[in-house]
Amino acid sequence: MIYTNGTEDLPILQFESLFDSGHIDHAVFTRQGGVSPAPFASLNLSVSVPDEKARVYANRHRAYGVFGRDTGSVVHAHLVHEAEVARVTKQDYGTWIARTDGIMTNEPGCALTMNYADCTPVFLYDPLQGAIGLGHAGWMGTVRDLPGALVRGMTAEFGSDPATLLAVIGPAIGPCCYEVDEPVISQVRGAFPDASSLLVDAPNGKAPANGGRPHFNLPEANRCNLQRAGVHHIEMAGLCTACRTDLFFSHRAEKGRTGRFGTIIILNS
Ligand SMILES: [Zn+2]
Repeated sequence: MIYTNGTEDLPILQFESLFDSGHIDHAVFTRQGGVSPAPFASLNLSVSVPDEKARVYANRHRAYGVFGRDTGSVVHAHLVHEAEVARVTKQDYGTWIARTDGIMTNEPGCALTMNYADCTPVFLYDPLQGAIGLGHAGWMGTVRDLPGALVRGMTAEFGSDPATLLAVIGPAIGPCCYEVDEPVISQVRGAFPDASSLLVDAPNGKAPANGGRPHFNLPEANRCNLQRAGVHHIEMAGLCTACRTDLFFSHRAEKGRTGRFGTIIILNS
């Protein structure tokens, strides 16, 4: 992972496997470099929280501006924690694709964005077919296998071979901070044969003692989802959003009173 200055006071995170390709632009924005006050300080990119709209648009202008874009020259998605995916084009610029947690394109120049606060960002790049995908998976999208649905969508739409895809799992809440209860526990058990390795007694990684609540390893569960879909190359950010509220918004750590940080991926022409 590469931590750089997108602009002077707006840091971005990038990933070697995507950066090295040279054919796409991408970033995870942090919460730094925006204009919103607490609890949205400062680079909140979402109007789904009670921040002022004008500030959110100013923040998007700053963030997407690192790549010469703005709210109207990227595709957004209306996230609903399900596993529906959609193929998009520049025709969708400035719109929010309804009820979808995964968007993909093979149109050169097309930019995809999504926002997060603990859920898992998933980036996919197909260097052979020239296609990209962007996904969002909280615990519901994870047990519903949104990452796998996005891989299968890229295969169906663009002929992508999962074995040649490059995948990145971005910053999400880690097992250190993600204590879970029902119905999360039983749904994780239903979705993953090896659930015992995903429901751990943090921080030692062992199963919890009787009566103890387990911690769910959300990023690892999504690595499993991608692997089960046939993806081999998976880079993990390894950053916990709840541990690093200096860098990210965290719904859990900040008890819901927080903003959303963004991602962007652009297929260069
Ligand atoms: Zn943590």
